[in-house]
Amino acid sequence: MDASAQIGVTGLAVMGRNLARNFARNGYTVALHNRTAARTRALVEEFGREGSFVPCESAEEFVAALERPRRLMIMVKAGDATDAVIDEFAPLLEPGDMIIDGGNAHFADTRRREKALRERGIHFVGTGVSGGEEGALHGPSIMPGGSTESYTVLGPMLEKISAHVEGEPCCTHIGTDGAGHFVKMVHNGIEYADMQLIAEAYHLLRDVADYTPAEIAEIFRRWNKGRLNSYLIEITAEVLAHTDPATDAPFVDIVRDAAEQKGTGRWTVQTALDLGSPVTAIAQATFARVASSRSELRAAYRPLPGGTAQELHRHEAERFTEQVEQALYASKVIAYDQGWTMIRDGAAEYGWDIDLGEVAKIWRGGCIIRAAFLDRIRAAHAANRDLVSLLAEDRFAAEVADAQVPWREVVAIAAHRGIPVPAFSASLAFYDTLRSQHLPAALIQGLRDFFGAHTYHRTDRDGSYHTHWAESG
Ligand code: NAP
Repeated sequence: MDASAQIGVTGLAVMGRNLARNFARNGYTVALHNRTAARTRALVEEFGREGSFVPCESAEEFVAALERPRRLMIMVKAGDATDAVIDEFAPLLEPGDMIIDGGNAHFADTRRREKALRERGIHFVGTGVSGGEEGALHGPSIMPGGSTESYTVLGPMLEKISAHVEGEPCCTHIGTDGAGHFVKMVHNGIEYADMQLIAEAYHLLRDVADYTPAEIAEIFRRWNKGRLNSYLIEITAEVLAHTDPATDAPFVDIVRDAAEQKGTGRWTVQTALDLGSPVTAIAQATFARVASSRSELRAAYRPLPGGTAQELHRHEAERFTEQVEQALYASKVIAYDQGWTMIRDGAAEYGWDIDLGEVAKIWRGGCIIRAAFLDRIRAAHAANRDLVSLLAEDRFAAEVADAQVPWREVVAIAAHRGIPVPAFSASLAFYDTLRSQHLPAALIQGLRDFFGAHTYHRTDRDGSYHTHWAESG
């Protein structure tokens, strides 16, 4: 067989199949392989005319079809399957060849795999791919890690198949080894927070303002024309406007209210705890999904009393809607800022040189959290590479400060009514925690010293101190 393919894709379920088609549509010859050969044949039968494909049944045939240095992309189920595929292909490769893992791998696994393959001279490029099935076909946001050397070869190909915004590709070299998968994980954590905030806004508009799902869909459509403009706000309007054909009921009313997850939000929170990154909105969003699914706990709490109900007049409902928009925007800025803090913390811990402005740039298209305000996040980080927080930038600081009164009112109204708003509350509490001159952490230090002689630092002197509590009366 001629080694004619510039890229090979193994794993041809929804993601791999669409990425392979995307490469082919962009003029690359793509070698195809899947554990179950029927998928390979089906792809060629259905889409063979879209471009140049080389279907392969065996691993040896697949490797032989690739031009040197070989570029082999794995799109299989993350976890053990990825290790199994690496074990199958690595012995057939040569130094300088590249394995690209586009699955949702944990960045620690990527670091382990990269190290093991580097010792054999093979580049392992853990690559975050966002945008789901549609993104994979029409242009995803791509977050490659791995060596700089591998990016010089792979970068142009990945940039070509990625989404483009204003002519710029939504793909950049994030950093070495697991940096790409780390950033993809945080992307998904932010996605969890964004979706939870949207869901809380919907809950408030439904239960406080008494709007129907169709009316709330209209509100989201309006918001999508302003500063909240984003893919998630856009599709929220579509989901809320949808009626169930079987019952004619609003679609949201026939879906069980138990949110599921595949685990990337959980990884974000677990890693954040290890790094000491205070991603409170992301954590609350992740726990909110978990709590919604604990039916036995919900049954035990259900008889307990809730807040007070009070009808709003039309003009009050309209005013409340504006307040919710402000609360949603401010909370969203906090949640995204927490994500960027975590990326900065991860970069410091693992020695990655991550350009935070570039991260915002490549999330403007192709991915689930694409949003108009990422342009401004990009500009803020590009203007100051040492920017510690978005709230240290004048415009974001002014917007969040302007929103704080309605934001507090919304959270207070939710508390009065007994409506859970964990992500709104966490974002507001985070804002108040960080802007406070004095935190009760001083008392916590005193308690720790009292029961465990853990010592404390003084405000007026350097050094560590311990009080002999038994003697101090
Ligand atoms: P998937 O359902 O996660 O995995 C199915 C694919 O993995 C099939 O090709 C299957 O081969 C292969 N596979 C499973 N175990 C294997 C093993 N032990 N050895 C060899 N191949 C094995 O597929 P997907 O939804 O297309 O996702 C692919 C990857 O992209 C995953 O890591 C996923 O997390 C990631 N991802 C998915 C999305 C999304 O929206 N779906 C978005 C971004 C990233 P057979 O056909 O032989 O069973």
